[in-house]
Amino acid sequence: MSSLVEYDANHCFHPFSNYQELNSQGARMIERGEGIYIYDDAGNEILDAMSGLWCTNLGYSCQPLIDAATTQMQSLPYYNLFFQTTHPPAAELAKLLAEVTPDGMNHVFFTGSGSECNDTVIRMVRYYWNAKGQSSKKTIISRKNAYHGSTIAGASLGGMGLMHKQTGCVVPDIVHIDQPYAFEECLDGDLQAFGLERAQQLEQKILELGEANVAAFIAEPIQGAGGVIIPPESYWPEIQRICDKYDILLIADEVICGFGRTGEWFASDTYNIRPDLLCMAKGITSGYLPLGGVMVREQVADVLKSANSEFAHGFTYSGHPVACAVAIANIKQMQSRQIIPNLQQSIAPYFAEKWSELMHHPLVGEARVKGLVAAIEIVQDKTTKQRYDESLQVGMLCRENCIKSGLVMRAVGDTMIVSPPLIITLEEIDLLVERAKQALDLTMASL
Ligand SMILES: *Cc1c(COP(=O)(O)O)cnc(C)c1O
Repeated sequence: MSSLVEYDANHCFHPFSNYQELNSQGARMIERGEGIYIYDDAGNEILDAMSGLWCTNLGYSCQPLIDAATTQMQSLPYYNLFFQTTHPPAAELAKLLAEVTPDGMNHVFFTGSGSECNDTVIRMVRYYWNAKGQSSKKTIISRKNAYHGSTIAGASLGGMGLMHKQTGCVVPDIVHIDQPYAFEECLDGDLQAFGLERAQQLEQKILELGEANVAAFIAEPIQGAGGVIIPPESYWPEIQRICDKYDILLIADEVICGFGRTGEWFASDTYNIRPDLLCMAKGITSGYLPLGGVMVREQVADVLKSANSEFAHGFTYSGHPVACAVAIANIKQMQSRQIIPNLQQSIAPYFAEKWSELMHHPLVGEARVKGLVAAIEIVQDKTTKQRYDESLQVGMLCRENCIKSGLVMRAVGDTMIVSPPLIITLEEIDLLVERAKQALDLTMASL
């Protein structure tokens, strides 16, 4: 072990890690990044098909973002938005966000992260219904296997079994319905009927709890950390219909989907949904600095603005000026470099075509893709879709083989997922898929 890896092993606890395992091997040391590649301390070049944690959309060496941070650091490195103050980057970014987010969303509440967005959402939803004199509307409906962050509130909204088990106490008045995971739960059935059935669980839950007690429904348009679960086309229109019918706020957690991931600025545009609240983080700064924000639809904003009491909520780093300056530069880069039109016309269709080739591999039971987010399901038997025994940890094995092949893919059980930087080129897509095939071959050879 190098001395730095040793310092790390001796002194640093890592998120979502098994410490026994981590300390026996030491962590992988990533030293620098360039374009869509990262480099470890041995100088190995690795194609980062996960964009860090779904965030480095403009890659690792976007000079305008670095310049924006430097300039802002020099003029005002910190100030806050508390007690009726603001600063230029927050004001300018708020206006830009109103332009690029879906129509009818013109106000933002800044946070420092995705988890803080979801904490904000819980407070805001309750504050909204109280202000409307409907304080019984308290329960928030979410989904199993959803990821909404790692604060206590984020994890409570989320539907990750292990997180719920370890935390024990969770925020009250949150319930979960099933996810629309067709590969696991609808193998031979009718996909669109399955999508409708899963959406209609929302209606059943509302009827069970009573419309007067339900405040909101929260979901990721495409579940990310749960394994890139792309819903059937029938799912979202039905969810929208139900939220409208029962006067339930719709919250889109677009922390992953936002800022181009699905081929539009927001997945709410892709799926034609009209959220009341929309959570953003990750891609908002391409991950260069921590920042999040909750967009608020006009009708909700009007109620919040008319409530004559203080909204008792906020974070020291809500709308940090340097992070806001980077977000402004990030949006302007996306606009001036035509990132989204280029995705739609060339990158996303090519990626879908190449990714689908992985279906020919003997280990792959499904290859699915939307925009620049994709998954493959590793199976033992392509026809029956039978999985390998869980104890073999095939996903983990494949992840290690990816690294050996110069590729970051993430494993969620035996589902391998990618979310490459939006600046990926056609040639780099070829390389990504080539390395993925190599990793699958290595995995098959060792099974
Ligand atoms: C990552 C993520 C979060 C949490 O964001 P943090 O910045 O890690 O707090 C919330 N929601 C979704 C959908 C995410 O993917």
